Amino acid sequence: MQQVAKPNIKGFIMTTSYANILKPLHLGFTTIKNRVVMGSMHTGLEDRFYNYPKLAAYFGERAKGGVGLIITGGISPNRQGWLLPAGGTMNHIGDIAPHRLVTHAVHKHGAKILMQILHAGRYGYQPFVVSASPIKSPISMFKPRQMSDKLILETIQDYADTASLAKKAGYDGVEIMGSEGYLLNQFLSRHVNQREDRWGGPIENRMRFAVEIVKAIREKVGEKFIICFRLSMLDLVHEGNTMHEVITIAQALEKAGITLLNTGIGWHEARIPTIVTSVPRAAFVDYTAEVKKHVTVPVIASNRINMPETAEEILAAGKADMVQMARPLLADAFWVNKTATNRVDEINTCIACNQACLDHSFQNKRASCLVNPRAAHETELVYIKTKKPKKIAVVGGGVAGMSAATIAAERGHDVTLFEALNDVGGQFNLAKVVPGKEEFHETIRYFKVQIEKTGVDLRLNTKVNREQLEREGFDEVVVATGVIPRGLKIEESDAPQVLSYAEVLRGAPVGHSVAVIGAGGIGFDVSEFLLKPENQPQPQPLSDWMREWGIDPNPDYMTEGGFVPAEVEPPIRQIYLMQRKTTPLGIGLGKTSGWVHRAQLKKHAVRMMRGVQYKAVTNEGLWVESNGHDQLLRVDTIVVCAGQESVKDLMPKEGELTLANYHIIGGAKLAGELDAKRAIREGAELAAKL
Ligand code: NAP
Ligand code: SF4
Repeated sequence: MQQVAKPNIKGFIMTTSYANILKPLHLGFTTIKNRVVMGSMHTGLEDRFYNYPKLAAYFGERAKGGVGLIITGGISPNRQGWLLPAGGTMNHIGDIAPHRLVTHAVHKHGAKILMQILHAGRYGYQPFVVSASPIKSPISMFKPRQMSDKLILETIQDYADTASLAKKAGYDGVEIMGSEGYLLNQFLSRHVNQREDRWGGPIENRMRFAVEIVKAIREKVGEKFIICFRLSMLDLVHEGNTMHEVITIAQALEKAGITLLNTGIGWHEARIPTIVTSVPRAAFVDYTAEVKKHVTVPVIASNRINMPETAEEILAAGKADMVQMARPLLADAFWVNKTATNRVDEINTCIACNQACLDHSFQNKRASCLVNPRAAHETELVYIKTKKPKKIAVVGGGVAGMSAATIAAERGHDVTLFEALNDVGGQFNLAKVVPGKEEFHETIRYFKVQIEKTGVDLRLNTKVNREQLEREGFDEVVVATGVIPRGLKIEESDAPQVLSYAEVLRGAPVGHSVAVIGAGGIGFDVSEFLLKPENQPQPQPLSDWMREWGIDPNPDYMTEGGFVPAEVEPPIRQIYLMQRKTTPLGIGLGKTSGWVHRAQLKKHAVRMMRGVQYKAVTNEGLWVESNGHDQLLRVDTIVVCAGQESVKDLMPKEGELTLANYHIIGGAKLAGELDAKRAIREGAELAAKL
């Protein structure tokens, strides 16, 4: 099919044909209707049988949205394999009943579903942990017991039994988790496997465990059952495998009977980012393509594939047979259907922030999605068409306001959205210029399209007051007026060299030596923004990004784990990032992304100062007290990132009579914990009730 190009709302080029994405994949005994795989993502619902109706609704919605193949969150084959105490396990006939709800919900819409078998090995956060060798992982407090020969053989049997039970539960197959540093990956690589028996030593021994598992499963389930293996194509840990070893494993797995080969990149303990938003799109696809050259089973590419253009490009180039996305399908359950019907600009794009999905999983909370609060809450947050349309005003076009306005309008209300500035987007317009946060453009694009599609009456450059709102006869008023940056209250803090973060991100000139006051998310963002050379293209080119993080760019890498020495350009500014608290800087950042920001600033020699008291601004710089001493930081510019204050003038005082009902959401409601996740969720929850 010929591909026609048209500009999208951002001015980027999008293809209007996604023939490769939509092509069925024939596996001989079964057919997957298209090339999109919803990858495994632990939601937290898998672990308790009473949550399976919710899990079925979550997967059912994605199947309805058109995805070809779904892979569940990890289910353990036995107690030693638990990720968390009493995690989801399948090793008894009694375990299968709740799973039938899931397989039925998915099959109803013509999609296929695999159950992932995950043995956490030394990543388990529980006392029964085992591994190839008794080496503790840096991300769990529990030291593993070395698996005996007997236990290895029993575990192989456990995998086969679990796969057989999965078949009885109606699954179309299983995925064996062999990447991201979990048990099988621990055996496959020298990083953890230091055994000298038949399960350790050369690659032929290290891969024996994985290969025997595949053989045992195949023998137990027969030919007409999908066995997918998720293989680490790039370990990114010391003493990790080389590409030659990865290919050796892939070929042995193929011979043992796998149906599909999936991609894993980097162990969870790796200190190179693999999925956060600053990782360029499809950054690792060439490693998958390299493995694909050496096997005949269909190969699945993964990591930072979030939009159809990227997916189509990978498939069209023959780099993979399928594309895997987990988070993008949390963000938009209807990703495939929108792609198939040429509505790509309606896709709610995953911005790879991890804030509501992985960060929640790591905090043992149910996963959801920052841009789609319905994810994994499909039975609780429901947008029902209203029978009593109301006239609703939403004041403030940030993400809270846009979320409320578009959902209320979708439900059938008559909605007017007032925005004082000449564009919607609010704080996201500041975030999108931060290097590595280019995906934030997509959220603004999504909401703009939703505003148009749902018929919201958008009034830009309109600062409304209470009298106007009352005059126009609104039934409900949603105050989403957001925040203003908090100023600094010290001597001479109104001097011209003192700027707010908003001024800086909007392009105000900044000197070569800078003090950044406040080390929350925005202090870190502003520091990264100020480190970016003016001529550096945005998004950062893949080759530059790889060089900066020390990733071997050769897909046929000979380096163990795929490392090369990182090359970092000298910083273009001297930055002091500081806070009053004495805790380490950045500990409040996201669990799965904060370390990337901290590493990035460290690499660029940003000086982190804690326990600082701000004294005065002078022509020479900033006077601070640090470690009991007064000190002058000779800086040209001081950027204040000291949090925000709510703007809520429109809210009536308590007891005041008004014609409309007033509601307050997002930053206007609470600036202290301003975050986009809460803002979008509050907008959605309110709109669902109005
Ligand atoms: P924040 O996280 O609350 O941080 C504010 C910083 O300012 C703190 O370091 C605080 O530290 C300091 N501060 C507070 N009051 C001050 C005062 N009166 N004078 C001087 N310093 C003061 O706020 P933010 O950085 O503006 O971020 C806002 C929200 O945006 C966050 O909650 C987050 O959800 C979101 N966000 C997240 C990310 C991310 O995770 N990557 C990035 C951007 C934004 P001391 O009190 O110790 O001085
Ligand atoms: Fe993507 Fe962020 Fe949603 Fe996770 S929370 S699915 S990373 S947008």
